[in-house]
Amino acid sequence: MAYIEPAPLLDKENPFEAMMSRFQTASQILGLDDEVYNVLKSPARQAIVSLPVTMDDGSIKVFEGYRVIHSTILGPSKGGIRFDPNVNLDEVKALAAWMTWKCAVVDIPYGGAKGGVCCNPREMSAGEIERLMRSYTLSMIDIFGPDKDIPAPDMGTGPREMAWLMDEYSRTQGMTVNAVVTGKPIVLGGSLGRTEATGRGVMVTAMSAMQKLKINPYNATCAVQGFGNVGSWAARLLAERGLKVVAISDLHGAYHNENGVDIEAAVKYRDDNKGSLEGFKGAERISGEEILTLPVDVLVPAATEDVINSRNAEKIQAKLIVEGANGPTSSKADGIINEKGIIVAPDILANAGGVTVSYFEWVQNRLGYKWTAERVNRRSDRIMKDAFDHVFKTSQDYKVPLRIAAYMVAIDKVAKTYKYRGGY
Ligand code: GLU
Repeated sequence: MAYIEPAPLLDKENPFEAMMSRFQTASQILGLDDEVYNVLKSPARQAIVSLPVTMDDGSIKVFEGYRVIHSTILGPSKGGIRFDPNVNLDEVKALAAWMTWKCAVVDIPYGGAKGGVCCNPREMSAGEIERLMRSYTLSMIDIFGPDKDIPAPDMGTGPREMAWLMDEYSRTQGMTVNAVVTGKPIVLGGSLGRTEATGRGVMVTAMSAMQKLKINPYNATCAVQGFGNVGSWAARLLAERGLKVVAISDLHGAYHNENGVDIEAAVKYRDDNKGSLEGFKGAERISGEEILTLPVDVLVPAATEDVINSRNAEKIQAKLIVEGANGPTSSKADGIINEKGIIVAPDILANAGGVTVSYFEWVQNRLGYKWTAERVNRRSDRIMKDAFDHVFKTSQDYKVPLRIAAYMVAIDKVAKTYKYRGGY
């Protein structure tokens, strides 16, 4: 089958400004005073580093890396590290702020941070990625710490990279410090349930929202855009709950099957095919843009920012959007989506399952103890359900969309904590 060029997906919106526009709206409704608003609008700390790495061919390539701490008001800052060619400071700033709001929405005792390196891990060898990760860790040695700033995986990184980070950090401390990073392999102190945690939280959020909207999961269809860790787990778990997942997609294109895509087969195909769905036979090939506008009940964008934007928002037919990715809906699209009566379970709520189980991993590391998968899942499901109910009630009380309600819940918590702690 011919290769279908994916449509350009970005609204070209500055992600930090997109975050700020929602933050402003929620702050105004809350009547947040200027002092707190000014504290929360700018990140607490921003580090930019140059990372020279010897490539396999002997040349030296210099990568630019970032770590932005948005806030430590609720506790040590928490947030993933992204290895992606689109990484830039404004994106990392927005993602760091989103982590602050995300931790506050699910009520875990962390501030928000994010890191990133502008690189293309798909074109790098394991050795090159390892040297880059170790070099990044050393550059951030004064920032990271189990009581200061705790990284985790994000796009382009996973347990393998977190193991290198933990090892490099531990070497500098002269002891094993596994609580400095989460999302580690299980043998290094990773938590059971962490790999599937974000997708599982997306599923719990989708089920909670469907219950409110009176959508019967056994009659519902779903499209999942993005088939990395979050998308593939969300698809698998939603299918287990009875939804018919009629389309999935990755970077190269989308796959549609009206009778339902066999998700297990797609996962296996991807794993045997260097992470790509290219050539997957269980469905008809459609474009990456088409998957967003299919006539489904539930749409799960689980790839990257701004895929739902002012160009395509009008064409979206889903009744419910559950944001597995961070920032998948541009702020320009918010109004169009609301106008159409589509309910959006926003990123800072819907994808918070990952950081919630990261918190459990950190707790287990600090206790030197291991929880069963059953305990991890039960506790994270409860946190996700409670957070959804809280945000839903706020949206009804204030007559605002779920996104603004989630920001209100988060900002209110951080602002109250700030008031108690006080500033100079
Ligand atoms: N990168 C994930 C996120 O965006 C996880 C962060 C964490 O576990 O600290 O939520």
